[in-house]
Amino acid sequence: MSGNGGSTVAWVAGGAFALVVMPVFMFVGVGAGDVGPDMSGVNGGTLDPKHVPPQYLPWVLKAGSMCPQITPPVIAAQIEAESGWINGRTSPVGAQGLSQFMPGTWKTWGRDDDGNGRVNPFDPGDAIMAQGRYDCALAEQVEGYKSRGRASGPTLDLTLASYNAGPGAVLKYGGIPPYQETRGYVVKIKAAMAKYTAIASGPGTGTIPAGQRLAMPLSGNPPVTSPFGMRVHPITGVHKLHTGMDFGVAAGVPILAAKEGVVTSAGMEKGYGNRVIVSHGTIGGKQISTTYNHMSAINVSRGQRVGVGTVVGLVGSTGYSTGAHLHFEVQENGQYVNPAPWIGK
Ligand SMILES: [Zn+2]
Repeated sequence: MSGNGGSTVAWVAGGAFALVVMPVFMFVGVGAGDVGPDMSGVNGGTLDPKHVPPQYLPWVLKAGSMCPQITPPVIAAQIEAESGWINGRTSPVGAQGLSQFMPGTWKTWGRDDDGNGRVNPFDPGDAIMAQGRYDCALAEQVEGYKSRGRASGPTLDLTLASYNAGPGAVLKYGGIPPYQETRGYVVKIKAAMAKYTAIASGPGTGTIPAGQRLAMPLSGNPPVTSPFGMRVHPITGVHKLHTGMDFGVAAGVPILAAKEGVVTSAGMEKGYGNRVIVSHGTIGGKQISTTYNHMSAINVSRGQRVGVGTVVGLVGSTGYSTGAHLHFEVQENGQYVNPAPWIGK
């Protein structure tokens, strides 16, 4: 919460540190489709969006993809500790917004990430991205200590300790400082991360209904706005094969893996926008893959195992798209086929 003494101290301590490292870390670029390497089971790689307010989800995913050490569950757990997801508050010592930035720290890390023309700690996008930027700088800092033999321990633990007590304290003690508050903070964030981490392998959280070979990639029963087959493309005007099925759904709705498998591709592609491809191995003697397209955010990374119902990303309108929808494809031996019979439509 905003009155949390530990968090407030962390931002103040971080402010002094941040001024020193800023020139090195200010220009780390982040693309919408960039996702870190698979850190599942290490730093809680895949976000379970159930407890994240939907309007903040794209930012949590984006901020959690700036560096491999800081994943979306880390970002989410910290926001919970800082503000309890309540925006608009200022703590008694002056920490502001979702991520509870102190004004001095904000000066260093804040940017107009949401593109609304102002840099404001009460703009959720600006706040969450600044938090990711700051976390990543701390992670780099502690990895520098480790490589020089000046500190030891898991990078995430040392990063969280730095966030709470300042990196100087981690350097001084060569690890997590023996402060009760700091130790408590590390334990608290790691415990909260569990709640925000999806089970990314095994059976997953969903099931494939009887009589279907694939589960629906969206919950509920969203309308099919354009079926598979020949059509005039809404943007290019060219008559050609529509290689998938379109579901009309609002931006930000979670997209679910239709069957367990391995992510073979996750990133931005021309036309498809943010796209994830999952290989499901052999079904009925054929190699089967599914693809999920035009997403506003990607929640998995290449090589990651997913279960039925794992959230692979969020509905969006990236690439050649006229509005928010999911373009869902099924491939048999690399050929696009009609997804309808696969999902019982
Ligand atoms: Zn489509």
